[in-house]
Amino acid sequence: MSTTLSIQILPYEYVAPEGFFITGSGGYVFYISRLDYLREGHTPVFNPSTGLIPGSRKSNFQSNTFSNDPSQSVSFQENADYQHEGELVESTFYQLDMHRWINTQIQKNQAFKTTNVPLSEIAEGTKAFEQTVRDFTTKYGDFFTSNVHSDSFQENRLDDWFNEWKDVGTAAMDAQSEEGKQKLTKAVPEGKSILNANLYKHTGIGDYRGAWSGERPPGGGVRSRIFRPINLAGLCWALIARDISDNITYSRCKNYQSTTNPNGCEHEIPSITLDGKTNMEYCSRNCSEVS
Ligand SMILES: [Zn+2]
Repeated sequence: MSTTLSIQILPYEYVAPEGFFITGSGGYVFYISRLDYLREGHTPVFNPSTGLIPGSRKSNFQSNTFSNDPSQSVSFQENADYQHEGELVESTFYQLDMHRWINTQIQKNQAFKTTNVPLSEIAEGTKAFEQTVRDFTTKYGDFFTSNVHSDSFQENRLDDWFNEWKDVGTAAMDAQSEEGKQKLTKAVPEGKSILNANLYKHTGIGDYRGAWSGERPPGGGVRSRIFRPINLAGLCWALIARDISDNITYSRCKNYQSTTNPNGCEHEIPSITLDGKTNMEYCSRNCSEVS
């Protein structure tokens, strides 16, 4: 079964960073492969946990994880902007709930922002959030920059990650209610709506003209919007736009973790996938295979 969608999200491609660390001064999220890039004489090191060589270009974003249709697959063309060579590895994870998953992480990591508790608890909260961010970058790459081995890399502190994730998570939840949708799409006198401002900042291409409106064109039908995320923040905001415009709802993956399924995943499935499919049960091929 296929459903017409008003939002189209184009594939997100990135260059995998390697060697996450937090700088001693300032607490910035950094990568050893970024340092290597800065030093120029770069030697790729194979990472057994991800199967990736740092700097290998890949798309971790498939519109339908279960599709074998070759037209669905992303072509990996050589691009001079990518500084490092590496073997491409096809991803097995699914990201259509990234904005909502981020909200869950923010709820779990409230201790990171708590100040009126003993220092030891603050340190623990910081450590826990650092681990969350470390795991995230290992799996998905940097949140703010698609290629940390380039001049476009944005330096952000853990604190910046938390604040951005909080905005994304809050918006992801708001996108599920009428009141929240209005809050996100209402233009303010000083400028763009919350949604519009973030789409403008983090996405590009397609027929996107820097403006978002939820209104239907005259004569019915749906105004199509095409977004290409330029970073993972952009992917999240494009997913939020989709939730609002196409009334996407979510349910837990059939392999969701629980007391009886401690090794299950923590992902959700959208009511409609990016290419219009419904009735998905599993978030990924991995989950369908272990169940
Ligand atoms: Zn799953």
